[in-house]
Amino acid sequence: SFFWGPVQLEDHEEAVGGESDLGSQLPPAAGPVVGIEGCIGNTPLVEIKSLSDATGRTILAKAEFLNGAGNSPKDRVALSMIQTAEAEGLLVPGRGDTIYEGTVGSTGISLAALARAKGYRAHICMPDDQAMEKSDLLHHLGATVERVRVAPITSPDHFVNLARRRARDHTEAADTDSRGFFADQFESGANWLAHFRSTGPEIFYQTGGRVDAFVAGAGTGGTISGVAKYLKEEAKLEDLRVVLADPQGSGLYNKVKYGVMYSATEKEGTRRRQQVDTIVEGIGINRITHNFNAGRDYISNAVKVSDEQACRMARWLVEHDGIFVGSSSSVNCVAAAVTAMSLPEGSQVVTVLCDSGTRHLSKFWKRIAEMGLEDEPKPDDLFEALGIK
Ligand code: PMP
Repeated sequence: SFFWGPVQLEDHEEAVGGESDLGSQLPPAAGPVVGIEGCIGNTPLVEIKSLSDATGRTILAKAEFLNGAGNSPKDRVALSMIQTAEAEGLLVPGRGDTIYEGTVGSTGISLAALARAKGYRAHICMPDDQAMEKSDLLHHLGATVERVRVAPITSPDHFVNLARRRARDHTEAADTDSRGFFADQFESGANWLAHFRSTGPEIFYQTGGRVDAFVAGAGTGGTISGVAKYLKEEAKLEDLRVVLADPQGSGLYNKVKYGVMYSATEKEGTRRRQQVDTIVEGIGINRITHNFNAGRDYISNAVKVSDEQACRMARWLVEHDGIFVGSSSSVNCVAAAVTAMSLPEGSQVVTVLCDSGTRHLSKFWKRIAEMGLEDEPKPDDLFEALGIK
């Protein structure tokens, strides 16, 4: 369970059934926590003042980069997957077990840190086009890292399939009693459940239930599904809009808008693209995962965000708010601002700041510098800056 205890759904229904807030689920009063596990969850919900001022709506963001193990929302997921595996006996401390995962980085970083804390090893398979900061960090956290050529999901050498195979090979090896555990963030129910049990209730509590729209990108889909399911099914926010923030090149936008999954290139008659062609890391995908499916029925709209808009938003947030984020956070903020403008003045929109820009210096922030954005004067009109009229 997370440090403030498991959510008992029965209690919870009672708690949200009337006018009551979620008092029973509040974290305990500030005091010591134990280890990095104790630094996960209960992140601040930050109003991004410049975006509120520019839109006339309140823009709030979960500061997920403040999760204290791997500094992203994946801390919640990694902890949830490890705890579930321990409960099922798939991971046993002290047996020499290794956690295997296919990840673009964030989940691996969270798993690597927690593995160290809990006495496991971590073996991470990731595509070789992701920012070096992430694989460097994994090395320093003591994980084994395999950077693999980008391959379609149908290939046995796709990073997810490779991680699954490595885990099986470990478990089947004759010379050890230790096991390999494939965490499987894309398909594991422990992923969206982590957000259903923690991120969703936190947002409900922190807004007093006043949330008109929740806007988030999808990598595995765990965040958007878990939060949406909680706010719709448990907190009963029937009027809540759930909006997907999708980077250019991702197939999910078309799935949400038109019910069909095709990428831009496929539409143009070329071979189906397996890889999402964007500078943005962590969100955007061309297949439907279990975690996206879990909350898909609640997603009512999607906003497509170009790389240029993501870069310009990142600059805007530094200039106006001193907030230094990575690419997926930036995409979320563009989509949150666009969504806000479609709602009545005074509405509250919640989104997610997934990770810090420090993890994206060599790619995303380099691109921003190359575009000359850092030399431009401080933009004063948000939508002009984003190229939206
Ligand atoms: N931002 C970053 C930086 C990520 O690494 C991820 C996960 N891959 C996400 C956002 C998306 O979260 P989810 O997997 O819950 O859809």
